[in-house]
Amino acid sequence: MKNMSLATQIFIALILAIASGFLLQGNAAIANEYIKPFGTIFLNLLKFIVVPIVLFSIMSGIITLKDIRKVGVIGAKTVIYYLATTFFAIAIGIAGGWLFHDIFPVLSTSDIAYQAKATPSFMSVIVNIFPSNFLAPISSASMLQVIVMALLMGFSIILVGKEDSPAERIIHSFNEVFMKCMELILKLSPYGVFCLLCPVVAVNGPAVIGSLAMVLLAAYLCYAAHMFIVYSLILRIFGVMNPLDFFRGHMPAMIFSFSSASSVGTLPINMSGCRRMGASKEVTSFVLPLGATINMDGTAIYQGVCAIFIASCYGIDLSLGQMATIAATATLASIGTAGVPGAGMVMLAMVLLSVGLPVDGIALVAGVDRIFDMGRTVVNITGDAVCALLVSKSERR
Ligand code: ASP
Repeated sequence: MKNMSLATQIFIALILAIASGFLLQGNAAIANEYIKPFGTIFLNLLKFIVVPIVLFSIMSGIITLKDIRKVGVIGAKTVIYYLATTFFAIAIGIAGGWLFHDIFPVLSTSDIAYQAKATPSFMSVIVNIFPSNFLAPISSASMLQVIVMALLMGFSIILVGKEDSPAERIIHSFNEVFMKCMELILKLSPYGVFCLLCPVVAVNGPAVIGSLAMVLLAAYLCYAAHMFIVYSLILRIFGVMNPLDFFRGHMPAMIFSFSSASSVGTLPINMSGCRRMGASKEVTSFVLPLGATINMDGTAIYQGVCAIFIASCYGIDLSLGQMATIAATATLASIGTAGVPGAGMVMLAMVLLSVGLPVDGIALVAGVDRIFDMGRTVVNITGDAVCALLVSKSERR
């Protein structure tokens, strides 16, 4: 075990988790009661470390760049990449849903009900990015607010202008300490993967084989198309690296995001993976936390596929204009989605409402949301990793 790489250990944990999940089918209560809590402990540890990591790594990244203009250039490249790939993602999601819509099963929609949680309005999403208190964003782990804090403080340290000031040294050394702490926690990830995934397989196994198989298949085909076509092409066209090498190096993060369904929880593993594949420290520490918060290609795909699925279950034909509206709102919804399990489904309500589809339809897919979620989280974090490698490469040039 000691000599095996972490990636191999995580992979073995994945296989064991699926096998034992199948064995425990019918006894899902056991998995939920005795295995899942250990997965929760591991996720808790990740959540504990993620806020200081984001805060200190972004600050330390900015200070290392020493130049506000340079930060602006990296920021602009990152945001353009994020918007462009999300556009492709939603196009693939809608096209995939549309191709499948004839073979989607007609489910009974007469007795379903879903109480949508209030989805925030666009303006309130924007207002909520800015913190009104120094400690609240940290204690409530509001990632966007933490990012704004880190940017403001990082810029201020540069502007104060003293080389090697105590503030700089403190930030760098805290950054190192939290990174070390993260490394320790990551050593537990094979156990975390096992304990998170086994109960999911035990509980959901039969449902996946049931009538929802077609939408799940449509979503997963679109996820795969986006990952293996769009991302591979980006890696190739911009000469970043061989896509096969990329997917090999990125495997631990993919497996982990698949079992945890949390982009934010996967952030530490994704950061260390990207660093190993050659992304620079400054870029990784800036691009990945931002991506884990706002770049959700998988979530956009899922929202496209599910909106079309729900429409076809209700016998509603969507017009081209409605599909364009779905694309626009799904882009916004994916930006507003938090990188935690299940967040994308809450935002699906916003997409459905935008074209007047019944929000109750969410109940049709809610039962297997976790299965959708695992796949969409893999796509979400893969998009971030490709961006980190791409921007690193362009900065080096
Ligand atoms: N679970 C996803 C993530 O963490 C968000 C979602 O539910 O779509 O990236």
